Amino acid sequence: MSEYTNVAEIFGEDVFNDAVMQQRLPKKVYKDLKQTILEGKDLSPEMADVIAHEMKEWAIEKGATHYTHWFQPLTGVTAEKHDSFITAPLPNGKVLMSFSGKELIKGEPDASSFPSGGLRATFEARGYTAWDCTSPAFVRHDAAGATLCIPTAFCSYTGEALDQKTPLLRSMQAINTQALRLLRLFGDTTSKKVIPSVGAEQEYFLVNDEKFRKRKDLVFTGRTLFGAMPPKGQEMDDHYLGTIRQKVSAYMKHVNEELWRLGVTAKTQHNEAAPAQHELAPIYAEANVEVDHNQIIMQTLKRVASQHGMKCLLHEKPFAGVNGSGKHNNWSLTTDTGYNLLDPGNTPHENIQFLLVLSCILKAVDVHADLLRESAADVGNDHRLGANEAPPAIISVFLGDQLTDVMNQLITTGMAKSSIESEKLDTGVKAIPDFMRDTTDRNRTSPFAFTGNKFEFRMVGSRDSIAPANVVLNTIVAQAFKEACDVLEQADNFEIAVHDLMKKNFTEHQRIVFNGNGYSEDWVKEAERRGLPNLSCMVETIETLTSDKAVKLFEEFGVFTEAELEARKEIKYETYSKAINIEARTMIDMAGKQIVPAVIRYTKELADAINAIVAAGVLDVDVQSELLREASSLLKETQEALNHLRQVTAQAAEMEDGKDKAFYYRKQVIPAMEALRKPVDALEMIVDKDIWPMPSYGDLLFEV
Ligand code: ADP
Ligand code: MG
Repeated sequence: MSEYTNVAEIFGEDVFNDAVMQQRLPKKVYKDLKQTILEGKDLSPEMADVIAHEMKEWAIEKGATHYTHWFQPLTGVTAEKHDSFITAPLPNGKVLMSFSGKELIKGEPDASSFPSGGLRATFEARGYTAWDCTSPAFVRHDAAGATLCIPTAFCSYTGEALDQKTPLLRSMQAINTQALRLLRLFGDTTSKKVIPSVGAEQEYFLVNDEKFRKRKDLVFTGRTLFGAMPPKGQEMDDHYLGTIRQKVSAYMKHVNEELWRLGVTAKTQHNEAAPAQHELAPIYAEANVEVDHNQIIMQTLKRVASQHGMKCLLHEKPFAGVNGSGKHNNWSLTTDTGYNLLDPGNTPHENIQFLLVLSCILKAVDVHADLLRESAADVGNDHRLGANEAPPAIISVFLGDQLTDVMNQLITTGMAKSSIESEKLDTGVKAIPDFMRDTTDRNRTSPFAFTGNKFEFRMVGSRDSIAPANVVLNTIVAQAFKEACDVLEQADNFEIAVHDLMKKNFTEHQRIVFNGNGYSEDWVKEAERRGLPNLSCMVETIETLTSDKAVKLFEEFGVFTEAELEARKEIKYETYSKAINIEARTMIDMAGKQIVPAVIRYTKELADAINAIVAAGVLDVDVQSELLREASSLLKETQEALNHLRQVTAQAAEMEDGKDKAFYYRKQVIPAMEALRKPVDALEMIVDKDIWPMPSYGDLLFEV
C-alpha cells in the first residue's frame, strides 16, 4: 500500500469494465455485448468464446490462476467455487490456460446444500449459475492469490430462482417495461431503458480482534448475548461524526483503496452514533451492480479488518443498549439518457410527470406496505425496528412540507397551483456566504423518506442483502405504473385523465404519508387508526410473501412464481429457527461453562475471605456477607433461568421445521434467553473483573 493514493489511477483497475472491453474485444463483439447488456439481446456461443478468452488473458495479466462464478444463494452471504484455468496436460507434460464461452456463461456448482425451500430435492439437485453480464467481472486479490470473479445468477434445473440476483434482474425488467410506457405517454420517444439507481449506506462496528475471540457469542452469533452497560454509552454524542481514530483511519484508507481497485465508488465515511460504529457509503449505481458492490463492501470491510487486528461486526445489534446498524437503501429511477424520474425540479407543482410518478409510488407503498416491511425482515433487525433507534416497524412515507402541500392541493382542487419556495439561509454571520436552504427539512425517523430526488428506505438491516428490498420496490412500483398506463393510454383527454388519476391516487393513499416523529407512541396509535399494518417482528412478516395479493403481484410481473414464494417463505422460517437456536445454545454454553463457574469461584473467594477475617478475630464482615448473599441469589436465578432455557431449546429442537417452530422460538425461547441474560448482567456488575470470563462492553466499545 502506498502512502499517498492516486485514486484516479487505481480506480477500477481490477475490473473488466467498459474501457477494458472496448480496448480488448473485437469491435463487433464489443458492440454485440453492449447490446446484450443494454437491451438484453441474445449472445451467440461464438461471441461468448471470444469474450471468455479475452477475459481470461486480462485476468492472467493481473495474476489470476482461478476463476469463479460468484453468486448469492439464500444464505445471506455470497458463494463461490474456484476452478483453475489449467487444461489437461499436453503430451509434453505442460498445461495450457483455457477458459471457454461455455464456462463463462454457465456453471454447475454441486450446490445441493444451499437452501432451496423444497424447490430441489437433493437427489435431483442440479443447480446452475448463469453469467450476469450487466454486472462487471473483477479480479480479487487475497490470500488465495488472484481470482477472476464472475457475477452470476443461481437457479434450479427447471429455472426457479435459488438466489437474490435472479428475482432482482426480473424486477428490473418489469420496472423498465412499465416506466418506459409511462415516459412514452409524456412524449419521451428517445429513452431506451429505465434503471433503478441504488445507493446503500453501510453501517458497521469495529472491535479488537483478540477481545472478539474471547467472546463466544460474538464468534458464533455476531452479537453479544450477555453484557452489562458500561459507565459511558453514546449519551454524550461525542462519537457521532467525531474525529476518526488513527487506527480506524488507516483501516478506512486500506478499505477504500481495495474498493476503488474493484470499481466500487467508496465515497463517504464517518463515525456513527454508537462508540466503535462507523459508516461507509458509495456513490449510487444500477440496482444489480449496487447489490453486488454492497456484498463486496461487506466482504472487504471484514477481510481488511483482520489485517489491522480488528473484527468488523456487521450484525444489526451487536450490543444491547447502544445503537445498532442498518443500511439505508436510496432508490430512484434513471433513464439511459441520465434523466431521474424522481427529480421534482424547482417547481414540482408544474411537473406533472413527476407528480404522477410520486402518486404511483405512494399507492405502491400503501398497497404493499406489508411486503416492503417483509423485505427488511431479518433475525438481527428485530432488535432495531421500533426500538427508537431505527424506523418503527410501521411503513409510512415522509414527503416533507413542499410535496405534502402540492399533494393536498391536488386532493382538494384537482389542480396544484404553487410550490412552497426555498428561502435564503440566514446564519446571522456576514462572513458566511448565503445559500438557499432545502425546501424541506430531514426526517430521520421515517422508514421511507423522500430526500430531494430519491426515496431512502431506512429499514434494511446492516448484514442483509439489499436485493429483497429492491425487488419489492421495483415490482410494486411497476404495478402502480402499469395500472396508471392502462388508464392513461385509453384516455381521450390526457391532461384531464392524468389529473384525475393523480387526485385519485393521492386521495386514496394519503394515509401512508406521515411527516411527524416516527419514534413516538402517538404514531403507533395513529397508524393503527389509519389501518396501517404494524408487523413487529420477522416471524410475523413471513406469511405476507404468499398472500393472494403478493402472489398475484409477483406472478403478473414474472418476478416470482407461487412455488418460489412458498420456497422463500419456508427458508425464512427455517433461517429464523436456526439463528435463534444457535443463539440459545451459545448462551447455554457460555452460562454453563464460563459464567456459572466464574461466579462460583467468586463466591468461594468471598466465603474464604469471610472465614479468614472471622478467624483473625475481626467480626465485621457485613460487606463481604452482603456481596456473597447477593451473588448467591443471582447465581440461583441464573441457574434456574439456564435450566429453563435448556428445556425450551430442547423442546424446540424436537419440533418439525416451519412456521410453528419459528413462532415457538420467538414466543418461548427468546423470553427464556432474556430471562437468563438479566441475572448474568447483574452479576457482571458485582463480580471481580479479574474473574469475569470475558471482555466487557466497555473493553469492546472503547478500546479498539
Ligand atoms: P444522505 O442521505 O446522508 O444525505 P447522500 O445524499 O450523500 O446522503 O446519499 C446517500 C446515498 O444515496 C449515497 O450512496 C448516494 O450515492 C445515494 N444517492 C444519491 N442520489 C441518489 C439517487 N438519485 N438515486 C439513488 N441513490 C442516490
Ligand atoms: Mg442517508
